[in-house]
Amino acid sequence: MTVLTGHAHLDLAWVWTRSEAREEAVSSARAAADLLERHPAACFAMSQAAAYRWIADDDPLLLDRIRELVRERRWEPVGGWWVEADLFGASPESIRRQALVGQAAFAELVGRRCTVGFCPDTFGHPAWLPDVLREAGLDSYVITRPGDHEAALPPAFWWDGPHGGRVKVLRPRGYAGPPHSDPSGLCLYGVGNHGGGPTAAHVEEADRLVESGRVRHGTVADAVRSVGEVLPVVRGDLVHHARGCYATLTSFKERLQRLETALLQRDAPPSAWAPLLFWQFHDVLAGTAIPEVYEEAAADLWRFERSMALPTPPATDEPTIVPRQRVDEGRPVVVRETIGERWDGWVPVVWSSTRPAASVEAEGAPAVLRRVEQHGLGYRLHVLLWLALRPYEERVLAWRVVPGSPPPPPAPPTGVRLAVLVDGTDTWGHSLRSYGLETRSSPATRLVLTGGPNGLVEVWGDWHEKDRVLKLVVPAGFSDTEGEMPGGRWNGPVVWGRVWSYDVVGGNLRITLRRSPPFAFHDPMPRQQRVEYRYQEQGPFSASLWLQPRPARVPPVVATV
Ligand SMILES: [Zn+2]
Repeated sequence: MTVLTGHAHLDLAWVWTRSEAREEAVSSARAAADLLERHPAACFAMSQAAAYRWIADDDPLLLDRIRELVRERRWEPVGGWWVEADLFGASPESIRRQALVGQAAFAELVGRRCTVGFCPDTFGHPAWLPDVLREAGLDSYVITRPGDHEAALPPAFWWDGPHGGRVKVLRPRGYAGPPHSDPSGLCLYGVGNHGGGPTAAHVEEADRLVESGRVRHGTVADAVRSVGEVLPVVRGDLVHHARGCYATLTSFKERLQRLETALLQRDAPPSAWAPLLFWQFHDVLAGTAIPEVYEEAAADLWRFERSMALPTPPATDEPTIVPRQRVDEGRPVVVRETIGERWDGWVPVVWSSTRPAASVEAEGAPAVLRRVEQHGLGYRLHVLLWLALRPYEERVLAWRVVPGSPPPPPAPPTGVRLAVLVDGTDTWGHSLRSYGLETRSSPATRLVLTGGPNGLVEVWGDWHEKDRVLKLVVPAGFSDTEGEMPGGRWNGPVVWGRVWSYDVVGGNLRITLRRSPPFAFHDPMPRQQRVEYRYQEQGPFSASLWLQPRPARVPPVVATV
């Protein structure tokens, strides 16, 4: 029997900004509370602790009404996370913090931690997630993607993680719309995406269906219980929906990843993660929101980066990023191991100089000058520093510039090359299986591919392609993949580093570095004349990977004294 649960899927930023979503969160919650108070049989589920926090701040009396409905078990807090995150752009460390921050907020605001994980709109779900859900006290999980046309998945199943975590997954056909009978045993009804929730007409329709005896009102947890325990078992990634998103707007994904590294390096408490966690929202981190959302995020993240005094300016094309503490020529730096494990490896740093450099010298630490950029009236030196640090060791390091002309970039390893491929799919890559044929780049695009110490491969340049992707091709001898695949933090056997997306063709590993569809362009909308399209990822960029083993853990902090 299908359980009918009212719901208002709210994208906290997408083709509208966060400020607009905040108003919608409060008004959708108010409409749902009104409806539950009028219809004593109806139930409603709401996720995303960040939205509850907005309600607490903007309408505390409404939060009191919600708490009462939660006590009556008709308003169901679900998800347990700060936001419904994108899961191929976020790491397990971040998702653990989504749950720590989210569950603490649910307990504080509505007096109850969640037991149901809830990401109905998220575009795919990685194999490691069941373990992370169980750690957070979430024993079940609601998804809708991939859909029936995208994967042969049962409507309800056990999903087993690599470390023994098992959750019960319900996969209804949708997360919005009128009430109906659903093979998963759960129907989420209501107006969705821009909030809304169940209408009076929806609840009347639900009452009629209940009288027919095939459905009943209830919570998501009721549906989880009523599908029983005898279910098929599934392991591995739940994919593919929108394969383009694995590598859409990698510059934004990289920026959040650098912030995550900085928080881990500083052993920051979970509450300090909230600004980062918010922008992991599925339509933002997946790269599918409008430009205004990324401008709003950039302003927010800029303040966050400044508050952490990040030692290196993030390499992004956002013009507003200025480090508060420049590491100027001759000014010593402090290097600090903060995780409690020995570190032996290269650490990338960016230092400032008034002169172009032929090389740099650091006291007791081999240093390799990688490239030099002009920066205002000075220069930015991209340097690799070999640090050998004992657990928690802190050392002050003097360094100096050897003036002169920068060295030419070293050649890449044999067989490693760049390829520009045709891509005419939408921002999500809804129709994407594999990117198209190899093509030439336009004259405005400049690409530099270099080798480096210990198997380092670096790519930088100026990217001005439209409807194209940039791939780094590495001979690997792997079996070919069936199309574009989600990456992750790789630790061998061929590549060490963060890979967003890849495929294997003819044994060659082809790692996707950049992708340039228009912003928030969605099938089946046609491309039209005299309509403006703003293309993603135009401008300077850089990327790096290692083809030899390197430490997989968080690198030491390098900061000014
Ligand atoms: Zn959504």
